[in-house]
Parts: sequence; C-alpha cells; structure tokens
Amino acid sequence: MSQQGYVATPPYSQAQPGMGGYQGGFGAGPAQPPYGHYGGPPQTFAAPPTGMMKPPVPSAAGMPPPPASNQYNPNVQQNGAHPQRYPAPPADSAYGQPLQSPYNSMVSTAPPPAQQLTNQMGSMNLGNYAPGPMQSPPPPTSSVIQQPFQTPPAMGQPQMPPGSQLPHMSPPQSPQASMQMSGPPMSGQPMSGPPMPSQPMSGHPMPSQPMSGHPMPGQPMPGQPMSGPPMPSQPMSGHPMPGQPMSGPPMPSQPMSGHPMPGQPMSGPPMPSQPMSGHPMPGQPMSGPPMSGPPMAGPPMAGMGRPFPGPPPAGPGGFQQPGLGAAGPPGYPQQAGQFGGHMAGPQPGPQPGMPGAFPGAPGGLAGPPQKKLDPDSIPSITQVIEDDQVKRGGQVYSTNVRGQVPPLVTTDFTVQDQGNASPRFMRCTTYSLPSTADLAKQCQVPLATIIKPFANLPKNETPLYVVNHGETGPIRCNRCKAYMCPYMQFIDGGRRYQCGFCNCINEVPVFFFQHLDHMGRRADFFERPELSLGSYEFVATLDYCKNNKLPNPPAYIFMIDVSYNNIKSGLVKLICDELKTLLENLPSEDAAESSAVNVGFVTYNKVLHFYNVKSALAQPQMMVVSDTAEMFVPLLDGFLVNYQESRAVIHNLLDQIPDMFADSNESETVFVPVIQAGVEAFKAAECSGKLFIFQSSMPTAEAPGKLKNRDDKKLINTEKEKTLFQPLKGVYEQLSKDCVAQGCCVDLFLFPSQYMDIATMADVPSHTGGSVYKYNNFQVETDGEHFLRDLRKDVQKSIGFDAIMRVRTSTGFRATEFFGAVHMNNTTDVEMAAVDCDKALTVEFKHDDALSEETGALLQCALLYTTVTGQRRLRVHNLSLNCSSQLSELYKSCETDSLINFFAKSACRAILNQPLKNVREILVNQTAHMLACYRKNCASPSAASQLILPDAMKVFPVYMNSLMKMAPLVASTELSTDDRAHQRLLLMGMGVEDTQLLLYPRLTPLHNMDVNAEAPPTPVRCSEERLTDSGMFLLENGHSMFLWLGQATPPELIQSIFNLPSVAHLQGQICALPELDNPLSIKVRSFIDGLIEKRPNSMKLNFVRQKDKPEMLFRQFLVEDKGLHGGASYMDFLCYVHREIRQLLT
Ligand SMILES: [Zn+2]
Repeated sequence: MSQQGYVATPPYSQAQPGMGGYQGGFGAGPAQPPYGHYGGPPQTFAAPPTGMMKPPVPSAAGMPPPPASNQYNPNVQQNGAHPQRYPAPPADSAYGQPLQSPYNSMVSTAPPPAQQLTNQMGSMNLGNYAPGPMQSPPPPTSSVIQQPFQTPPAMGQPQMPPGSQLPHMSPPQSPQASMQMSGPPMSGQPMSGPPMPSQPMSGHPMPSQPMSGHPMPGQPMPGQPMSGPPMPSQPMSGHPMPGQPMSGPPMPSQPMSGHPMPGQPMSGPPMPSQPMSGHPMPGQPMSGPPMSGPPMAGPPMAGMGRPFPGPPPAGPGGFQQPGLGAAGPPGYPQQAGQFGGHMAGPQPGPQPGMPGAFPGAPGGLAGPPQKKLDPDSIPSITQVIEDDQVKRGGQVYSTNVRGQVPPLVTTDFTVQDQGNASPRFMRCTTYSLPSTADLAKQCQVPLATIIKPFANLPKNETPLYVVNHGETGPIRCNRCKAYMCPYMQFIDGGRRYQCGFCNCINEVPVFFFQHLDHMGRRADFFERPELSLGSYEFVATLDYCKNNKLPNPPAYIFMIDVSYNNIKSGLVKLICDELKTLLENLPSEDAAESSAVNVGFVTYNKVLHFYNVKSALAQPQMMVVSDTAEMFVPLLDGFLVNYQESRAVIHNLLDQIPDMFADSNESETVFVPVIQAGVEAFKAAECSGKLFIFQSSMPTAEAPGKLKNRDDKKLINTEKEKTLFQPLKGVYEQLSKDCVAQGCCVDLFLFPSQYMDIATMADVPSHTGGSVYKYNNFQVETDGEHFLRDLRKDVQKSIGFDAIMRVRTSTGFRATEFFGAVHMNNTTDVEMAAVDCDKALTVEFKHDDALSEETGALLQCALLYTTVTGQRRLRVHNLSLNCSSQLSELYKSCETDSLINFFAKSACRAILNQPLKNVREILVNQTAHMLACYRKNCASPSAASQLILPDAMKVFPVYMNSLMKMAPLVASTELSTDDRAHQRLLLMGMGVEDTQLLLYPRLTPLHNMDVNAEAPPTPVRCSEERLTDSGMFLLENGHSMFLWLGQATPPELIQSIFNLPSVAHLQGQICALPELDNPLSIKVRSFIDGLIEKRPNSMKLNFVRQKDKPEMLFRQFLVEDKGLHGGASYMDFLCYVHREIRQLLT
C-alpha cells in the first residue's frame, strides 16, 4: 500500500463519480455573457505545463473524468455518464456526500471504546487559553501536569545551576537614551506654509513656517529649539538580527529534575514495513531499541509501528554514546495486535526510563543501562516532507472530494478547483470533524481553519472568476445570508433551492432560473462558477459599499522619518532613490494596466511635512504641520496623485528630500500623528489605502502617543511578564479603530538601535492587516538590499482594502475564535483595513449541536473588499468537511502543519493574558492529551511502553517543541523584548506555510550539490548532528538565513563560492555571495535567490563559521537540539510527552 493512512482516497473518489471534474476547463466555452472573467482566459483549467499534471483519470481513482458540458470540456473525453459533481443528496441534505460506508466500516473495527479516557481527560479539561485565571489546565493538583519538565537534569541545562550563564551575546540593551532638549535651534525648522514658490528645493532646508491649528499657511513660528545632541547611530558589531533571540541561560522555569522514570521498557523495533491488508491504520507504535535500519524513513507505513528506541545509557554519554544502538537486536519482532503492523519490540529487558534520555544526566539518576536512542528512529519532518513530495508532488489535486486531506504545504502540486476552495486559500486542522461536542472535547484536537483569502496562485492555476449579476448583486440565502455556492441544493424543478448552511428554502430569482437535468443539477452548472467552484468573486453592488457610494481606488502614502539618524545612516536617500523605480510597479489588477493606486508623500521628525506633487507644478511644494495634537492634512488637491501623471514632480521631490534635511539634527520623532495624518488624508480623499512608515526611534517628542522606555527584564518569569507584550492603550487603541474604519492599513519599517516598544508601535499595523519589518542597527551597506527587497515585495503585493469577512458554517457548529492581524467590533465580523496575499486568519470552531455524518460540515468564507482598481468585490471560499463519530477518522484526517499554526497563534494570544509558564504547560498537556486519546481510542492494543503516534501527527511533537522554544514563549532575559514582541505579532498573521517553515527551518547541505541536477538539494534534519566539519549548509526559516561553513570546508569549495583561499579568509561584513563564473557558484546563488524570492519576507544572508562566536545565532535555529535559552531537545521532549501520555493512560 503506497498510501499513508490519512490519504484514504479510494473510497471517496470512487463514490464520487461526478466529482471527477472537468479538466477541459471553463476556458474554451462559448460566451458566458453575464460573467466578467468567467470563460475569459482560455488557459483556465487548461492543461498545465507538461509534467505538472497527471491525467485526471488516476486522480479520481480510475473514474474517467465526468462529462462536462461540451463547451467546457473540449479536451476531455466524455463518458456520457452525466456524473454529478454533487450528487443528489437525501431530501434534507443540502449537499450530496460521498459514500462513506466502505471507509467507515473498515475503521470501525479499530478503535476500542473511547469512554475510558473520557472521564480522565475530561476532568483535566485542557482547554483553550482563557484570559485570566485558567480554569482548565494544570492545576497544581494534577501530578501529571505539574511534572512537566521536572524530570531529570533540566532539558538543555544539565548541571547548570539555575542562573548560571552560558556564554552569550547579548543584544545591546542600552537604556533608552534620554534625549536632551537643548542645543542649537534646528537649522531645518518646521517648514510650512504657502505653497512654495517654485523655488528649487535644494541643499538647505527651505525656510519654513510651521502651521498650527489650521491648514493653510500660518504665521511663521519662531524657531523652535531643537532637541539635543543627535544620537550617534551606534553601529554595533555582531548585532542581533531581527527576531533572533540571543543566546542565554537555560529556560529557568523548566527545571528538569526529579526522579528517573521507572523503567519504561521502550522496546521493540519496528517491523520492516509490512504490507497491511485492509485499511491503513494510522498508529505508529514507537518502541524498542534503536533501529538503525529502515526506521522512519521507510516506505510509508500505514499504521505500521515505528520504533521508539529506548533511552540511552545513563551517564555523560547520554545520547551521544555510539555503539549501543547498533547493538540492538536486528530483528523486528512483531507486536501483538490485529494489525500486524504494530510492533512491540522483543522487549529486551526493561529499559530505564526518561532520566537517561536527558543528555548530561548525572549517572546516578539513571536506571539500568539504556539503549542508545538513534535519532534517525524518531519521526523526521524532512522525511515526512520528502515522502509527501514523492507521493503527491507534481500531481493535480482536484478539490472534488469532501473532507479530502490536501498534500502538505511543502509539496509542489497543482490545484484544480472542483467545488471546494484550494488548500492555498483554506487549510484545516482536520478534515473530519468529530460529530459531537463530547468527542471534540475528548480528543482536544482543535478544530480550526486557516484562511489566506488572497493567497497567490501559481501561474498554472486559474485565477478566480468574477461573477457579475449586475444591479441585483450576489444571490444569498434569505435566512443566513450565505452566498450562492455549490452547497445550495436546487429543488422544485429549479424554482427553489435549499441552503446548505441553514437549510432554509429560498426562491430562485427569476433571472437566475434554470432547469434541472435528470440528476437534479442545473443545466448551467458548469457555466456558473458559483454553482461549481470552491472559490470565485462577485462584483458587489452599492449595497456593499460605504455610504452606498462606489469606492475610489486606494492610495499609498510614503511617510519617511527624516530625523538625524535616518539622514546620517543614508536610509532616507536609499528610500527616496528606490521609490523612483518602485513606483513604476504599483499594483494593478491586470499587469498590463497602469496602476490606479494614487500616491502621496510625507516626511516627519517632530513635525510633519506634506508635499504637493500635483502634475501641473514645476516643483513640489512643502507644507509643514507642527501642531501634532490635532492632526490635519494641510492640502487636499495635489497630495494624493497619480504617479504616472506626476512622475516629474515626484522625482524632483525624491531627489530633494535627502538634501533638504541634511543639516537637520532633530532626533526626536512623533508617531501617532503620522498615522493620524494618513487616516485624515484618506478620509478627505474618500479612499482606503496603505501607509508605509519608515521609523528608526521610539516616538519621544511631545505629541499624542509619546512613548517611554518600559522595557523591564525583571518582569521576565513573573506574573507581569505579559505586560511586556501588551500594547499601551489609549490613543493607540483608538487609532486602530480609526484606521480600520477608514480602511487605512499601516506597514511599519523599523530601524531600531535600541528598545522601541514594538508591542505598542506595532499595535496599529497588527490590527489593520499591516506588516512590521525590523532591521536592527541598520547599515545601508549590509542591510540596505535586504530592506529594499522587503519594500519592493510589500509595495507590489496583491492586496485588498477595506475588507470585512464573515465565516459561515452549516448547522451544528460555528466560528468562535479568530486569530490574525484583524480587528473585531463584534463576534462575527472580521474587519481588516487591508489583507494581502501573505496574511492568514486562523478561525476556531466549536460545536453547537451534533453534526451530521451524512451532510458533513460546510464552511463559507466571504470577504468583501475593495480592489486596487477601486472595485468593490466579494470573494467567496467554500470548503466541505467530513464529520464522523469515529475519532480515528479525525486523527487520520489531521494536518499537523495546520494544527501547529493554530497552536502558535493561540499561544501567542494567550501570553498577552497569562504567565508563559501556564501557556507552555497547556501546550505540553494538550499535546500529550491529543496523543493519549489517539492511543486509547484508535490504536491497536500494545505495550504501554510504546509511544504510538497517529500517522498524520507523527511529527507534531517536533513542531510543538520548537514552538515552545520560540522567543515569545521563552522566558529568558537574554532575549530582546522587542524581538519577542515582534515575533509574536508576526506569528499572528502567518499562514500555514509560514509557521511550518518558521518552526522547522530548512537546513540544506550545499557542499555536495549536484550542479547538473534540476531538483534542489534535499534538506536534512535540523540538528547539529547533521552538520559536518567539511560541509557548507544553508539554513533558512523565512525570516533569517545563514550560510554555515565547517572548519574543514575544502579550500576548493571556498574558492569557488567566495573566491577566497580558505574559510579563515572570510572576514568582515559580507552580505552577498560574489558573482563568480563557475557552475557551483551559479547554482548556489540561484538556489539562494530562489528562496529569497519565494518567501514573503526577504532574508539577509548571514555567514557563519563553525565555532565562531556568531554561530550561537545560527544554532538556535537547530530546533531538534536543546534550546539555547532553554527548552528541550526533540528527543527529550518526545520522551517527556511519552511519559505524560503514559500517565494519562493509567
Ligand atoms: Zn441559509
């Protein structure tokens, strides 16, 4: 059986003859008058490039593609069977469903009664993170819970007395510099006033007249004293990189001490993968002595046991001690159990428990001699990724099957929309919901979907069709307001339809009437995206527009902090130069068109300078607003302009800005008034848009939103640590609301040299769908290109503005929690000033009632937004899930990458309200609980010593352990508060791809790269053990990138990559590889460039030599190892979780 347990396609696909889809596509059809793009681009659904798609037939388990209406299916053989894509449902069903019986019946044999655990686990009630006192989890009463990490030598900090310091590099933590207000009056005083006569704006600051109170040129204000000595730009060597925790002492709150675990005979190596008859069983018992052989890497073993070798011998050797593993019994005795796949080892004698599992454990703690744990024998993420790529890569994934689990986010595949949204738009933690709330509670697997409504689609996938019903607008259910979609069931000869979400019977509007065929399907099924596709758009009518007025195209305002530091560092000039080319590439819906997005420019320090760049002007004009208490925009006409029309004036301005402030030594800035100015400008122009703010210091100037240093490392590990993550309220809170109301998204580019209170400064961006970029100790030479790549990506991103989203569900469950860079005024409407292609929202569901296994569970995400051309649209994504009373179905249909996205976001939210320690405990407990419930209810009986993981979740513990080592969740005084706050906010907006990569960085060997191979080199496990002295490795996690060079890297390799004689010659600040004309150099650079291009954020390439001090920065990304700031190694964590599971089960 080549499929893993969770794939389970056959029964479904066979039962779905009609779902086979129409590969021919919509494209070739004759005119479809009423719809915009529908039927437009002929490439739609057309065959993708050779090799990308497999023929449709195999994907539908042998069913030929269904006949589609002729006009749409020119390329596909018709079988005349008139398949229904959504077979007629039972009378009360709104959505036909696949036959499930074969599947269910197979599984039903497996799970033992689930009740036993229920009480136990129910009483623990590990729930969500509730603000405030935790009702649920680990009350000290539970020994199970209280033990976390209190076993033997602390994870990662063997023999280190608490508080002892590892060598570390600490980030510069200069106290907030207090700026002296003194010094000479600013040479560049606030400028204002009368439109500048067309004087050239040159070299020196323009004479200026600050304006206060009212918009128009006011009286000149006397020279304002300027703030004091400019802060030197504080260049730092070895500066911390954004988001990179610096090394430090072990995580204090997790002392691992305590007793050795009673002998846990972790036994039995796995059997070599035996073909299993019958259905795949997900269970993977892990047991036994280390396998050196076919362990995890083996062929996909559905339900096959995989060994979890016993812990290593006690003593210093710990896991490192070689030899023992190899000594394990060669055979793979079979485990008792009806599946034959579950293996218990030969029970080579009880193995000592956990203690030995912690490297460095004092010998005394350990029990009897232990077997070495072979790291290769525990589930590997890289292996799982590779297996999925082999199995599903290069294939077409048709979304015609309810509850189908998509390929992994890391797999290359092509999506064909056949009635459910592409996994690029929506992914779920499980594709089979438990049918009752009790079951959901019992297993504690979060039920959630991660929605990335604007996800970029690869070029070979069809862009969304736009449906235009003219003045009538989209058709919606009268009761629940769900939009017309494939889950509406037409009845009564086509005159009425039943809503799949609320079951209400609605009249079909006259203009929309269509006859039904003998299968009960509308004759125009294939002509209307809203009947046959998972995702599409509607043109919205005036009813969907603010004030019943069609929106104007959005605008982008560039707001540049021109305080001393930014001028001196060259940042201002860098930005201005870049904008001249960047503005040529503002987003448009159709690449051929010029952009409709207007642009505006503001510079600021303590005061704001607005620029009139009207095309008619020969020179730009500056107006200054120095009264920042009541922000207003001093000019309307000429502030927001079309770039193409005003190009000359804008270039003139951009040329002059760096010089205008060259002599300024104003080092104080404002911040809130800058955003307020943007909101006011949009308000005046009646548009939405985005602010690009470039700021390098905390706003300390006297103005609303003035901040002071509130960083306090003493709070770490206390009840008050959460306050470090909490934004200041007051004016910031109101500002977020104002921004959302106006559709004003804020993107923040920060260039800090010290604490900036990012928790507060990034609050508005994180509620408006904005992004926050941070470049610590920015230097143009080394960070400039990195920053510019980010800026370019950001400006050109596909994006929607002034958005409001609603997630509807069929009866029995509903959306209860929303995690993302969003704002919520009520419990159901998600408001986003903007949402771009990289932002994802994670939505959690709870049961209201029992769900029907027959009709399944339906989701509809409807997003109302304004396009970059100013059109109001509704984007609809539909997804149908299975429901089952068998928990084994749920576990089989889990998606680990989505689960970890949910946990990451919920934990990041929880730390705003709870001590970190509680949050970590909840994470561990819930992990153990989910796995214990599986073990209890779904796995075949086996020795308690075996760790059995559901196949679809077998690498979940790696991710979970990595999550707990993320900067926001680690209470270490060595980490910068801003870095932690920044990472927390980043995580909140991430989609599944991003959290996957962040939590498990790619470590790719480059030294043995085949320069002729097309495929990129295969990553290795993220552990120090995988590094070799003579190797060169690239590590990246979507935010940081390192090229690691072993001490013994051959000189030839260094020569061909760096043009240097040896590793030792690699000195100073290199920020890019030299362009050398040899195959290896070309290959390596193209690989790196490809990654940078592919990720949402650009990454700076850092060079690290083995054993150099900066290697610490790199090592913290080796997530299978012990954390530099505390946190267990993967192996230790797995042992720990195993022990927790055993406790839950006894
Ligand atoms: Zn309805």
